Amino acid sequence: MEDFYTQTLSSDTAFRVLFQYATIGILVIDKSGKIALVNPSAEKLFGYAPSELLNQPLETLLPENLKHKHASHREGYFNNPKARAMGSGLDLFAQKKNGKVFPVEISLGHYELSGERLAVAFITDITARKQAEQELKQLNEKLEQRVSERTAELEAALDREKELNEMKSRFVSMASHEFRTPLSAVLSSVSLIDQYTHAEHEEKRKKHVERIKSSVKNLTDILNDFLSLDKLEQGKVDIDFQHFNLEEFGADAIDEVNNMLKKGQEIHYHYTGQKEIRQDKRILRNVLLNLLSNACKYSEEDKRIELKIICVPETISIVVTDQGIGIPEQEQKNLFEKFYRAKNAVHIQGTGLGLNIVKRYLELIQGNISFTSIKNQGTTFTVTLPGYKNA
Ligand code: ADP
Repeated sequence: MEDFYTQTLSSDTAFRVLFQYATIGILVIDKSGKIALVNPSAEKLFGYAPSELLNQPLETLLPENLKHKHASHREGYFNNPKARAMGSGLDLFAQKKNGKVFPVEISLGHYELSGERLAVAFITDITARKQAEQELKQLNEKLEQRVSERTAELEAALDREKELNEMKSRFVSMASHEFRTPLSAVLSSVSLIDQYTHAEHEEKRKKHVERIKSSVKNLTDILNDFLSLDKLEQGKVDIDFQHFNLEEFGADAIDEVNNMLKKGQEIHYHYTGQKEIRQDKRILRNVLLNLLSNACKYSEEDKRIELKIICVPETISIVVTDQGIGIPEQEQKNLFEKFYRAKNAVHIQGTGLGLNIVKRYLELIQGNISFTSIKNQGTTFTVTLPGYKNA
C-alpha cells in the first residue's frame, strides 16, 4: 500500500497546490524560450498580473544588458540539460515589470512532457541577503581599518617605548662616564681644601672652590640637557614670545660663558641692525649659550671666537665662528643626531645632546641652523630666525 506522502505527492492536485503556494518563484520554459508556466510567487516577484507572463519570452524577465547573451545560454542548456544551480559563483540579476533590477538565485531543472523538453527555474529574490552581505562587508572593512589604525598606533607606541629605553640606557652609560670626571674633580678639590689650612693657601683654596663650582655646573648642564630633551620628546615645551633687546641679550650670553674661556680666548662681538625683537628669549638663550660654549670648548687657548648678529626686517642671523678643532667632513652629516660626538672631540667632555636640542628648539620657533667647518681650522654655526617684520 502506498503511504500518505507518495499518494499525496503523486496526485495532480498535490502538484498544483505545491506550485500555487510555493514561496519560491517557479517558471517552466519551453524549448523556444517562452514561459509555459508561472506560479503566483514568480508573478508577484516580477510584478506581473496573473497569466500576464504566459507565452512571453523568458528574456522579458532579464535586465537589458543581459537579454542578448541569455538566448545562447538558454539554447546551450536545452542541448545539455542538468539539474544545477545557475551561474554558480556569479551574481545573477533579473528585472521586474517596472524595470527595477534585483539580485536573484536560480536553480535549474528539466523534464520531458509528451516528448517536449521543458526547463524549470526556481527563483529566489536575494536582495535582503545581498544587502546584509554588503553591510557585513562594509563592517568588515571598517573593522579591518580600525585594526590597522590601532596596530599602527601600537607600533608607534612601541617604537617610542623602544626609543625611550634606548635613551635611558644611553643615559646610564653616558652619565656613568660623564659624571665621573666632575665628581672626582669635586672630591679631589674638597680633600685638597681640607689640607690648605694656612692663610697663605688662600689662593689655592679659591682655585679649588672655582673648580668645584665649574664641576657642579657641568653636572647641572648635563642634567638640564636631559630634562630639555625629555620635554622636547614629550612635546611639552611651551613657546613664550616676548619683546627684548637682542644686542644686550648677545652681550649677556657672552658674559655667561666668560668663565668657560680658556687662557687667551676672547669673544669678539658685532651687532648690526634693529635691536628690539620679539622672540622666545629662553629658547634663544639656550641656543646661543650652547653655540658659544661649544666654540670655547672645541678651540684651544689664545683662539679668537666671534659672535655676529645681524637683525634686518626679513631675518635675524646669529653667527658663531671659532678657530678650533673643526668637524671631520665625513662626520658632519651626523652632527645633529642625539648623542653624536665627532671622533676628534671624544677626549673633550660632552654628551652629544646640545646640538640636537638646539635644532629641535629652533624648529619650534621657525628657526634654522647650519654650519661650515674645516678640521683643525675652525667652525662657523649660523642660526637664522624670522625677522622682526614677521614677529
Ligand atoms: P657635546 O658638545 O656635549 O658633545 P653637542 O651636541 O653640542 O654635544 O655637539 C655634538 C658634537 O659636535 C660634539 O661632540 C663635537 O664633535 C661637535 N661640535 C659641536 N660644536 C663644535 C665646534 N664648535 N667645533 C668642533 N666640533 C663641534
